[in-house]
Amino acid sequence: MEPRNLVIVGSGPAALTAAIYDARANLSPLVITGKDLGGAMGLTDRVENYPGFPEGIGGFELAQSMQKQAERFGAELVMDEVVEVDFTSSPFKIGAHGSEREARSVIIATGRSPRRLGIPGESEFAGRGVSTCATCDGYFYRDQTVVVVGGGDAAVKEAVFLTKFASEVHVAPRRDRLRTERIVEDIARSNEKIHFVWDTVVTEIMGDGGVNGVRLKNVKTGEESTLETQGVFIFVGNVPNTELFKGQLELDEAGYIVTDERQMTSVEGVFAAGDVQERVAWQISTAVGSGARAAMQAEEYIAELEGRAHPERDA
Ligand code: NAP
Repeated sequence: MEPRNLVIVGSGPAALTAAIYDARANLSPLVITGKDLGGAMGLTDRVENYPGFPEGIGGFELAQSMQKQAERFGAELVMDEVVEVDFTSSPFKIGAHGSEREARSVIIATGRSPRRLGIPGESEFAGRGVSTCATCDGYFYRDQTVVVVGGGDAAVKEAVFLTKFASEVHVAPRRDRLRTERIVEDIARSNEKIHFVWDTVVTEIMGDGGVNGVRLKNVKTGEESTLETQGVFIFVGNVPNTELFKGQLELDEAGYIVTDERQMTSVEGVFAAGDVQERVAWQISTAVGSGARAAMQAEEYIAELEGRAHPERDA
């Protein structure tokens, strides 16, 4: 089979933006979406800070609109997961569960996954009281008590979301302050269902069949306590999804893909965009920006391979 001009790995805002741009550039990109359309964006209840939606928009709805826009211009989306890549020679090989494909250029936009705490009970009760997605699981905690671990944007926003269902939401940041937008902090602090347990880490998740409590430790006093709860939502940051690319692409010390100002990775013709290479601001708007840049550079790369001058450079 002829190699594709471009395979895009992922389906968050960076991937779908790249698909829109390069479909319009006639590259007929193939998007291998991964498990969930929209990536982290698709699991977000409301997106309030993406321009153009004054009333906010559901994250999954935004992903579907981006998908529709990409398909309108000729992008092809397949629901599959990439499990293997070979970037040692061109055309590049991309192995998914369903098939193996070859491509002359690749845009990696695999995003990040929730960081784990590594405490007793976390794995044991995963999906049975321990969650990293309030949008997916919040509904199951109607009129129950839940604990949110973390003090960043995700923890505070998701805690506010969980108050739609839970009767009490205990938020445990490991410091005495939050790391979130002021407007979000004010909303959380004024919500009567939210109780902050400052300077606190969760050291164990306890249960019997399902979760029934957590062991807490105050990091300043060393004091330990327990709290009864039916659900534990963990939002303690994220790690880039780059396991697949180890040994093939240059990664930095935190595991992010290293890119240059053209979004090019250490392999000519392989680009990366979105959270998987972002070190400063993990936002939909920044992912859209780097996705567009990667797409335009991939277009230029393909034009050079074909010995065609790029229209903009030609003008
Ligand atoms: P984050 O900003 O890195 O915050 C992680 C939080 O977890 C911090 O409070 C951190 O504490 C705490 N933490 C880390 N390791 C811990 C541990 N082992 N035990 C206890 N607490 C621990 O991560 P995030 O909230 O996921 O946000 C990531 C990025 O996504 C941010 O740029 C954010 O603006 C963006 N974002 C998220 C959303 C969302 O709703 N999901 C929406 C828009 C944007 P310290 O502060 O002490 O380090």
